[in-house]
Amino acid sequence: MVKKIFEMTVKEGYGSDRMADYLNSHGIKTHNNSKFQCNTVNRNLKNRLYCGYLVSDGVESPYIERLHIIDENIFDQAQFILKQRSSKNEEKQQIARTTKGSTLLSGNIYCAHCGQKMVSTSYIDRYDRADGSQYRVRRQRYICTNKAMKRGACDGQSAYVAHRIDGAVLATLRDYLAKIKSTPKDIALEKRYKSEIAEYKRKQTNLEKEVEKLKRQIVELSAEIGKSLLGESRFTPDMLSTSIDNTNDLLHKKEIELSDIKFKLANQQNAMGKLDFYYSQFRTWADEFDNSTMEQKKMIACQLIREVNVARGYEIEIVFDINYKQFVSETVLI
Ligand SMILES: [Zn+2]
Repeated sequence: MVKKIFEMTVKEGYGSDRMADYLNSHGIKTHNNSKFQCNTVNRNLKNRLYCGYLVSDGVESPYIERLHIIDENIFDQAQFILKQRSSKNEEKQQIARTTKGSTLLSGNIYCAHCGQKMVSTSYIDRYDRADGSQYRVRRQRYICTNKAMKRGACDGQSAYVAHRIDGAVLATLRDYLAKIKSTPKDIALEKRYKSEIAEYKRKQTNLEKEVEKLKRQIVELSAEIGKSLLGESRFTPDMLSTSIDNTNDLLHKKEIELSDIKFKLANQQNAMGKLDFYYSQFRTWADEFDNSTMEQKKMIACQLIREVNVARGYEIEIVFDINYKQFVSETVLI
């Protein structure tokens, strides 16, 4: 059941309200045999227990294999989606708050002229035919609110027919996904990660040695002060304490460099670990894309694409999400 909740969140973009409705309408009950609420759904999605960790008072237990139900990467993706959806992130929203709307893009489409986020609205496409009959169809369009409502300066176009943009974006996505199907995982990319990791490790080892050496020097210099006070040293206590200060400064600098390298190394190892995940995610989407529903396509588009910028005359620029960008070229112009 938990698996299903994660899957529908990550793959189909179900929001917590819709998810609760879905579970309740399928007669599924919570542990306490009660109905699902949206906060029960959210609690489930945030529960680290499903990744194999017990949490009490904010402290996490070591990994416990028998508790593990949800892949760590899927969990992270769900957190990303939850975070994007929370109202605090309104401005930088990449994941559509809901995939129920009928346009492909929401929250991730911008006016290329003024940078304003575009919103989708519906309108009635109407004309009267020569024979006197009426043509009336409800359609969607994306509008730049700066231009359309005169809220700000914009020299662009106020509205764009949604299906024209959606169609172009979908076609491009399809091309890219088809390409990834025939592209083996980038060996060069993996090699680059590996060589960078090796380089960081080498630097880390050297810095650790230097830090140890400086610490030893400080201990020796301190001992020398004792001797100097007894008149058994060639150096005066002043000389020695200046030398200790200098050594301490250097030690401090090296320790900062070391923690910086450790941080970079951890990041790089993390990125390398996720490489497989994102690649296989990409492949799965490629395999499923043609047979997926509009909602699934929307969810794929939301996760693959960071933003779409549209300019006058339907000039479209697609910027891929950073995690997938590494497998494709950075931006696409249609
Ligand atoms: Zn605009």
